[in-house]
Amino acid sequence: MERGRRPLRAGLALAAVLLPAPVPAWGAEPLPSATLRAAEALRDRALAEGRAAEWARRLTDEVGPRPAGSSGDRAAVAWGVALFRELGFSGVRAEPVPVKVWTRGVETGEIVAPFPQRLVLTALGGSVPTPEGGLEAQVVRVGSLEELEMRAAEAPDAFRGRIVFIDRRTERTGSGMAGYGTTVAVRTTGAAKAAAHGAVGVLIRSIGTDSNRLPHTGVMEYAEGVPKVPAAALSGPDADLLARTLQTGRPVRVRLVLGCHDEPDGVSANVVGDVPGRERPEEIVLLGCHLDSWDLGTGAIDDAAGCGIVIEAARLVAASPRRPLRTVRVVLFADEEKGGAGGRAYPRAHAAELPRHVAAFEADSGTGRPLGLGWTAGPLAEPFLAQVAELLAPLGAGRLIPGGGGADVSPLRGAGVPLLGLDQETTTYFDVHHTANDTFDKIDPEALAKDAAALVAAVYAVADAPAPLPRIPPKAP
Ligand SMILES: [Zn+2]
Repeated sequence: MERGRRPLRAGLALAAVLLPAPVPAWGAEPLPSATLRAAEALRDRALAEGRAAEWARRLTDEVGPRPAGSSGDRAAVAWGVALFRELGFSGVRAEPVPVKVWTRGVETGEIVAPFPQRLVLTALGGSVPTPEGGLEAQVVRVGSLEELEMRAAEAPDAFRGRIVFIDRRTERTGSGMAGYGTTVAVRTTGAAKAAAHGAVGVLIRSIGTDSNRLPHTGVMEYAEGVPKVPAAALSGPDADLLARTLQTGRPVRVRLVLGCHDEPDGVSANVVGDVPGRERPEEIVLLGCHLDSWDLGTGAIDDAAGCGIVIEAARLVAASPRRPLRTVRVVLFADEEKGGAGGRAYPRAHAAELPRHVAAFEADSGTGRPLGLGWTAGPLAEPFLAQVAELLAPLGAGRLIPGGGGADVSPLRGAGVPLLGLDQETTTYFDVHHTANDTFDKIDPEALAKDAAALVAAVYAVADAPAPLPRIPPKAP
């Protein structure tokens, strides 16, 4: 925050010296009272009506799991289009997005020696299958990717022909993605890194904070020129069991059978609908979430929750007696989990419109209550956003933190589009994330109503402000 203030003062001083006419001095001018009153009314109405959980319920119960390119995904796209029409959004459409398709098959694991035990595991998204008849090998444990590289440097054959077990714990944090952010590379890159040193398979401790006997899936990537080896995540208790067994010092052999595999490429879609602005409909404030989910649960906190929040915010804006100046556009993005193809397809399909995208919000942090607003924009946006934060303060969400947006809207950054998002409570988010336990009962309808209230107030203020938000400067970090 401190670092954001200095360029602001310098910028204002410079503007005062160089520019003859009054410039839109962000923050110097309060938002018009009609804007503030309408934003407050929408905020309060979101709390009173609280329908965000209803949209999440419909998506999870009526569609269920929806990995990109699956039949569930097609049903989700049809669901989104039908709901947008039901809510009276304009220009409702499904914009095609080519996606890679991957299917989970059988998945079993066991310690075969020295003490036979079943292991509860799940394939990582994108993993190749095990060879015909399964894969059996001795296991070597490392505590981190750093340890993997260090030991490979010391003894180049340490991992050759072995199943490498990467046993790194994910730390629980109260908000944001901090613990997950530091361990997720184990999942995304562990298989490629271990295979580069001769491993024949990879097991990871699930990237999650629970101790349930439920493994966490999630996307992984192979590297060019490195053999593709099968990779799976163990549930926390099974990772503990394997670690304790290895501590006995006896050779530990594990057998894996994974039937997961790539399918022919498929097509999904970004579902788009507009609530046209009253004076500048060509200027767009985008609200995004992702429509796809992993296959193990029904994708409730990830990301039916986020879709519930953004759909409810757009519904309330559409129902407002005073539409904002600008258009509010909802996008249910395709393929966030597996490849991010929806987020990349959107700016390609809307290249001509990007200069008129004044902000993009994303909701993909689960069902926790709002704590504040995260933002990435030109530094001069801060005083304006401080006014927005005041609208959110009665919800307990009055803080501003650096860093807004999310995976789906991040490709808009190159066009300078300011990226915003709710800062949400995430203490238990990674207990459930990407597991079979990600089901509707985990949704907290009251917290979700508060999230929608915070989002709709912020969105309205941005969509109705006299001038658009300062854009992300070209060379921003
Ligand atoms: Zn997500």
